[in-house]
Parts: sequence; C-alpha cells; structure tokens
Amino acid sequence: MISVSEALERLFSLTAPLPAETVPLHRAVGRVLAEPVTARRDQPPFDASAMDGYGVTKAMPGKRLKVIGESAAGSSFHGTVGDGEAVRIFTGAPVPEGVATVVIQEDVERDGDTILITDRLGGGNNIRPLGGDFRVGETIPAPRLLGPQDIALLAAMNVPTVSVSRRPRVALISTGDELVMPGETPGPDQIIVSNTFGLHAMLTQAGAEPRILPIARDTEAALSTVLGLVDDADLVITIGGASVGDHDLVARVAQKLGLERAFHKVAMRPGKPLMSGRLGNAMMIGLPGNPVSAMVCGEIFVKPVIRALQGLPAAPAPRDAAELAAEIPANGPREHYMRARTGPDGRVTVFGRQDSSLLSVLGASDVLVVRPPNDEAHAAGDTVEIVRL
Ligand code: AMP
Ligand code: MG
Repeated sequence: MISVSEALERLFSLTAPLPAETVPLHRAVGRVLAEPVTARRDQPPFDASAMDGYGVTKAMPGKRLKVIGESAAGSSFHGTVGDGEAVRIFTGAPVPEGVATVVIQEDVERDGDTILITDRLGGGNNIRPLGGDFRVGETIPAPRLLGPQDIALLAAMNVPTVSVSRRPRVALISTGDELVMPGETPGPDQIIVSNTFGLHAMLTQAGAEPRILPIARDTEAALSTVLGLVDDADLVITIGGASVGDHDLVARVAQKLGLERAFHKVAMRPGKPLMSGRLGNAMMIGLPGNPVSAMVCGEIFVKPVIRALQGLPAAPAPRDAAELAAEIPANGPREHYMRARTGPDGRVTVFGRQDSSLLSVLGASDVLVVRPPNDEAHAAGDTVEIVRL
C-alpha cells in the first residue's frame, strides 16, 4: 500500500495540462486563464467625480457660486471652471478643467443658477483620479481560476475574449450487475447507481466536462465494450470493481486493453482500492464502488487532477484547521477522512457512523476531518485538519 500523498504525486505525474481555447467573457467563469491578460485602457479613463454635487475650484464655506453648466456620466462639460463658478456634476462624470474639488450636493444650497456652500462641508475632494483602479498595461497573471470578480475586471479592461484551458473531458463508467439508473425500477437484488451522479456533479463544479457512459455489467466483454465508448476523453473514471474479489474486473480488463498501471492500493479510509494509469490517450482512475469512498476519492484525488489538467499548480485538496466540538478515538494505520459537521461556533463534530456506504452521513457533512495514520485520540477543543466539502 502507498500513502495518499504518494498516490497523488503519481497521479500528477500522469497529468499533462490541456491545450488552451478562446472563449467569450460570458463563458469564462470557472475556467482557468491560460495566458496573462493586459489592460488595454486606464480606468477611470479621466478624473471622475465620485459623488453627485458641484465641481468647484476651491470649497469655501459660505461662498456663493454661479452654476455655469453640467457634467454627467457620458456627457461631459467642455470648458474651464473659474473662481466664483461651479459645474453641476454627477457620479462617474469627467471632472472639467479648473475643478479641484467636488462639493457633495448635501453640502450645498441651490437657488436658481447659484449655489451656496454650507458650513457642514465634508472632507476629501470626491474625485477618482485617472487610472486609480488600473492603468494600461496592468496584468492579470495566468494560470488563474476565473471568478465573477475577475470577469468584471476583465470586462472593465476592455478584454472581450480570454484564452482558457480546455475543459477536461471525463468519461464516467459504473460497473456492477446490481446497478440501475435513477428513475428505473430496480429488481429485488438491485440498487440505484448513485456516486456516478455525485461525481458528475463534482466534476462539473470543478470545471470538467463529464459524460456518463452506460453501466458496465460484471463481465469482461461488457466492460471492454463500455471502455470502447470512451472516445476522446482526457480522463476515464471507473467506479467499482476495483478491489480483488471475483467480480473485480476493472484491473484485468483495463490491463488487457493496455493500461499501464501506476498503483493499486492506497492507505486511506474510506477508499482503499484505487487504480490509475494511462489507457491509450487518456488517463484512467479506477475508484472504489462504495459511494462515500468514491466521493471522498473524488475530493482527494480527482479534483486536484482536474485542476492540474486545467493548468493550475499540482496541489492536494486545500486543508484548514478546526477545533473539535467533541472527542474522537485514536485512528488506525490508514489516513482517515472522517465525515463531520461544523457548528455555529465553527467547531466540528465528527459523526459516530463512518461506514463507507452511508451517503446520508456524507450529505449531512460539510467537512472531512483528516486523521493521519495512527493519530492518537483527541479531546474536545483539540485542533484538527479539515478538508471543506
Ligand atoms: P465494488 O467495488 O464493485 O465491489 O462495489 C462496492 C460497493 O459499492 C457495492 O456495494 C456496490 O453495490 C456499490 N457500488 C458500486 N458502484 C456503485 C455506484 N456507481 N453507485 C452506487 N453504489 C455502487
Ligand atoms: Mg461491483
């Protein structure tokens, strides 16, 4: 058996970043920027008013000024403002020549085409300087996972399309005579395929393009047929049939099809059987069938691989620290990912039932508490490592 971090390293060594493609900005959220982007303009492109008010040469309380024009966003005042004069100005409007300060309208009394600056004058000139947000040539570095904030910034930079890594195409194959699809009527000895859908959802959120292939029955012929449908996938994920029982065909069939196997067993709970290698042009990961094992292996192995395929740095699932709300017993020899829930005080409670078939317990969890091999028992208040779900 190998450790989780060793298994992850080996997975990364099978992972080559995918090529880039150009997408319009409104399709770029959740994608990974493949090339740095440079601002094509200054923002704001001129000194702009930060408030609705009056532009003046000097804010002097008690002084009466003549309003000589108006500068609004999108239609500026062309002319120079002199002493004794003011220009009505609105938020975002260009600041006319001569104006040093915008007096907010609340600090002004207007009477016809004159204003009187009152005594309650606030501080600051209320002017956003040219380029105060960003300047021409400022760069967003790559790789970067693009969030809504980045999209807004890119748009402001006048960048209509971006170069992003292609979404990893992932083929998902469930194996088992006992499995039927959700919505079907299962026979008396059948169950509904579940983790295929959980993984599909996880992969979609991680930026991949997953595809669910037909369920492979537990024969070599059936599994070979379904593996033949993999087509142009970058990553093939099989679920189930990955341990060494009579019905565990994945290793056998994949090897007959030319899988260069990288490893087979990982010292972790849940999820001990795990397989990986290269199959033709694709990378393959064989996940255990137990629903929670498959989902936890998805978090710990598949998501980091999806990130690396998109050009992000090869790194394990991010970890945080949290305080325990209640004691937990000592851990065994395998790294244990325990389902747990965060309370309103931020402390985590590890669920008593950790069997790898219990999806309801996973559904109630928002973190996995990570226990190193042979970790000692912990008391309430102790700090542990967590992976957020
Ligand atoms: P296996 O690794 O094929 O021995 O499967 C281990 C356990 O997981 C068995 O109880 C299977 O019925 C169950 N299982 C396997 N694949 C799936 C799946 N895609 N969805 C739900 N349960 C599964
Ligand atoms: Mg099976």
